[in-house]
Amino acid sequence: MAKILLVEDEHNLSNVIRTHLEEQGHTVKQVFDGLAALDAVASITPDLIILDIMLPGIDGLEVCRRVRETSIVPILMLTARVEEIDRVLGLESGADDYVTKPFSMYELKARVRALLRRMEMMQPATAALAEPAVFTEAGVTLDPASYEATLDGQLLDLTPKEFALLYLLLRYPGRVFSRAYLLDEIWDYAPESYDRTVDTHVYRLRQKLGVECEVAQRIVAVRGVGYKFERG
Ligand code: CA
Repeated sequence: MAKILLVEDEHNLSNVIRTHLEEQGHTVKQVFDGLAALDAVASITPDLIILDIMLPGIDGLEVCRRVRETSIVPILMLTARVEEIDRVLGLESGADDYVTKPFSMYELKARVRALLRRMEMMQPATAALAEPAVFTEAGVTLDPASYEATLDGQLLDLTPKEFALLYLLLRYPGRVFSRAYLLDEIWDYAPESYDRTVDTHVYRLRQKLGVECEVAQRIVAVRGVGYKFERG
């Protein structure tokens, strides 16, 4: 059962959520503004954060960004407006999931369960990286303390990401790691990891609009940044 930090300034809603989560055996710490949320993250190290966007003081997206600087704790955002969803899903926020108000407690609990399960699956790998030990497999030796990899005694020229990927895969033979998991674990939400995902979606969207379509033609790539829809 998990230690959940609940950041929601509507007291009634916060209390209802708390009751439902406690019924499931979780411990819930309630705070009602952004600064208190940042304090609580540091002091209680929650297993999961439920975070409303519209908060007094620092808003939820800013809280999310700051938490992400030091932690991979799962974050479930609560959004009141459809317009906020783009920002939540935006690369800069680092949120893991969201629910749109009004939501059912059933839906909220399902999201919480899914995020906690995902975090549980990540534990062994995280623990392995946290406990560096020289490791040898089929002639490849990996030293996580120095990030040095050798093959038959010859130093391999790996980037830190390549090293981490190799270490993770070799450490758990037979285990299947999804791309999403590897993105989280190795690339740690780095925006460049998502470039191709975005590109694929833009490509498909253009295909569906048709190459002759003006809208499709006006969706243009901005080098080094992303995409924009050009003014007509
Ligand atoms: Ca609010």
